[in-house]
Amino acid sequence: MTGATAYDLRTLLRPSAAALEPYDPAFSPARINLSANENTFGLPEGVRSRVAEALAGAVTNRYPKPLSDELRAEIAAWHGVAPERVIVGNGGDELLFNLFLALGGRGRRLVTCPPTFTVYKLYAELVETEVVEVARDPETFEVDVDALADAASTATLTIACSPNNPTGTLFSPADVRRICEATPGIVLVDEAYIEFAREGASAEPLLDECPNLAVLRTFSKAFGLAGARVGYLIGPEELASALAAVRQPYSVNVFSQAAALEVCRARDEFVETIEKIRAERERLATALAGLPGVRVWPSDANFLLVRLPGAQKVRERLRDEHSILVRDLSAAPDTRDCLRISVGTKEENDIVIEAMSILIREGDAR
Ligand code: PMP
Repeated sequence: MTGATAYDLRTLLRPSAAALEPYDPAFSPARINLSANENTFGLPEGVRSRVAEALAGAVTNRYPKPLSDELRAEIAAWHGVAPERVIVGNGGDELLFNLFLALGGRGRRLVTCPPTFTVYKLYAELVETEVVEVARDPETFEVDVDALADAASTATLTIACSPNNPTGTLFSPADVRRICEATPGIVLVDEAYIEFAREGASAEPLLDECPNLAVLRTFSKAFGLAGARVGYLIGPEELASALAAVRQPYSVNVFSQAAALEVCRARDEFVETIEKIRAERERLATALAGLPGVRVWPSDANFLLVRLPGAQKVRERLRDEHSILVRDLSAAPDTRDCLRISVGTKEENDIVIEAMSILIREGDAR
């Protein structure tokens, strides 16, 4: 091929993209999937049929409403804020991505508290944003709020994940206020799991008081719509507008808008399932903590962080011998020997407890 110019994608990719690995949830087919913190109960029966009707009536030959108008209005009324302060996204993930598109870049700084949701760092690196990490206490996973406030004082964006994935720990509203006051930047409280937390844990009541505060929520967890991909952010109006400006115009499709609207209207019907998950969380935590060598951290979310000897091997054997999928976090130094186990239905949790006790007893015998 004379004259052909050699093509080499590596030279074409922006360096920050070339350095990234695709996000890998490490899914494989399994009888029980407790690896992604979904609501394994699914939708309550009545809600399910209303969602089905709404999907059947969705208009597909027209583009969706760019800003999900009806859903946005419903969310705004629920939270008692003006609709202009709400932005709906294709999952919380899209909103996080757009937050980095809008606020990130060279010379800008993200502050986070690892171990935390790894996507923050991934997006920050993609848009060449400096990441400053304020490490948590290695034993309790608590955050040194003084150190965080100090780091936030030069940040463009500070993300406090509450309850935190994967530790299940909270930032109290008092801590959030402190960080908001300490920084000239935006403070995002990622409340993807807040419905599972104790009363009074949310930063939402601070939204009027703290002009630089934004709260991220999702329909993927407590509300059982992980497959539909719908999340939302409530924050200052200028931020919602900036996120509306950088987003892909039609990122939330008509089916997702219709499903989320029904679920949002039916939100009170989820209380029973959420209560069950909270009760199961405590039962699962107690049972696992009773196994030899196992440590379980208290959690305000729908998952448990569990440390055990040979975690990686146990995770593999859960998958291969018991067809149970959990998340392996053992390779990261700050979650050494840890697995993250989502709380499932009673039946699922019973199977996990049984399988874990077999594997751990066998491990002991070897
Ligand atoms: N924040 C946290 C802390 C999460 O764990 C997740 C999902 N794993 C998300 C945000 C995004 O969720 P989604 O895109 O499904 O709304």
